[in-house]
Amino acid sequence: MSNTIPLTVLVDWLHRFRDAVVAQRDWLTELDSAIGDADHGANMARGMTAAVEKVDQTAPATADELFKAVGMTLVSTVGGASGPLYGTFFLRLGTSLGAVTEVTADALAAGLRAGLDGIVARGKAEAGDKTLFDAISPALQAMDAALAEGASAGTAARAAASAAADGRDATTDLVARKGRASYLGERSAGHVDPGSASATLLFEALAAAVAA
Ligand code: ADP
Ligand code: MG
Repeated sequence: MSNTIPLTVLVDWLHRFRDAVVAQRDWLTELDSAIGDADHGANMARGMTAAVEKVDQTAPATADELFKAVGMTLVSTVGGASGPLYGTFFLRLGTSLGAVTEVTADALAAGLRAGLDGIVARGKAEAGDKTLFDAISPALQAMDAALAEGASAGTAARAAASAAADGRDATTDLVARKGRASYLGERSAGHVDPGSASATLLFEALAAAVAA
């Protein structure tokens, strides 16, 4: 398998992520109703539906334009914390990749890392705060480790998705220290963090797109 990922695969990734958050809207909402305000499913489904519509209408020619369109749309259509956080993630990813029509797996991993750095700059989350950071950070560690061992983009993306799911599951026992769930204090423990669940869908969508 080639380690170069064309723009069409990045567009397919976004379609698959949109499809996943739409399909899992009720589950994401259920998770957010336990420790938040029951809008994470609606936020992600609305935001990604609008973002993919924008992409399909404007057909961006380069990776930076593609992810800029997604990031700007998420920031402007999602009112909750997840809009600016995912929006910043995609904006930073696009800036890192630049005006290219294909990306290497290493460049994608570096771009995703830049995206996570943007989330941290914006929301100040650290490991163990029970946020989407706790899915994305281990996913990127697994991706970097796989690529360092010479793995293909597909293998690295699958490793990332699996690590994200483990990180998501591990949020169950955590007490939230950021976002709405932190208002619950100790009572936030015993529930999966909704953002870590949507972030796992993001990496599962990437693995599926790269494998397709
Ligand atoms: P809101 O909390 O405004 O209702 P959402 O329900 O859409 O927004 O998103 C909630 C998710 O956002 C949480 O489950 C968590 O993963 C993530 N989140 C909230 N605050 C932060 C933060 N400061 N840093 C990182 N992620 C955060
Ligand atoms: Mg919410």
